[in-house]
Amino acid sequence: MKNTLITGYDRYYRQVLVKEIGGQGQQKLKKSKVLVIGAGGLGAPVLFYLAASGVGTLGVVDYDTVEMSNLQRQILYKTKDIGQIKVKAAKNTIKTLNPDVKVNTYNKKIITDADTNILSEYDIIIDGSDSIKLKNLIARKCVKVSKTLVTGSASTWEGQLFIYDPNNSVSCYSCIYGNQSNNNDNDCSHLGIVGTVTGMIGSMMASETIKNIVGLSSSLTNNLLIYDGLFNEFRKIFVPKNTTCRSCNYNL
Ligand SMILES: [Zn+2]
Repeated sequence: MKNTLITGYDRYYRQVLVKEIGGQGQQKLKKSKVLVIGAGGLGAPVLFYLAASGVGTLGVVDYDTVEMSNLQRQILYKTKDIGQIKVKAAKNTIKTLNPDVKVNTYNKKIITDADTNILSEYDIIIDGSDSIKLKNLIARKCVKVSKTLVTGSASTWEGQLFIYDPNNSVSCYSCIYGNQSNNNDNDCSHLGIVGTVTGMIGSMMASETIKNIVGLSSSLTNNLLIYDGLFNEFRKIFVPKNTTCRSCNYNL
């Protein structure tokens, strides 16, 4: 039977071969702690890929149970998981894929600043939630506690991705959508979503997280990436600092 070292070597071998990652990058991944808020269409592929890549600790925040209508895109869950608490089902799948990953679960809704205190315990925050109000709350907290934030969203055939890096950002997520803080609509439930689009955006969110952990810079800091799956187009839009943004100007 192979010992743990050899098993780990085999598991990550193809990734360690990538010159920007290597053995040192793999060690950084192992030591990293990543919090994923929302274990849905975006959170599921993010968690799957980060667990597969060897991120040492994953935190999973969600308050829902698995429903039949989730299975079209939330690839962590299986038909037998319907009715189960999402964070528990997510942990089971992650552990089956990679038992070496430590998984912390938070079966709760993040509503207040007090709830966001969990963020301080992690190195990188990933926002896969579907509420603009919550996204602004998380963005504000990440600015306040100087945490890298990877924010994604998806609806119909389109997706967006933006990164806040406290060391390199001039703008934050709320500089774009901060004035919509009272809009709590979930576009996905009203307009629909193509599962592969959440897969695309979720995979890119995981990829940007891996890059950040191993010390590579991102071109999505200060730039909003917009993906149009219907026409297969990517656009990057520069996001200047919004001088009226409540999150990064007043440090509330
Ligand atoms: Zn801002």
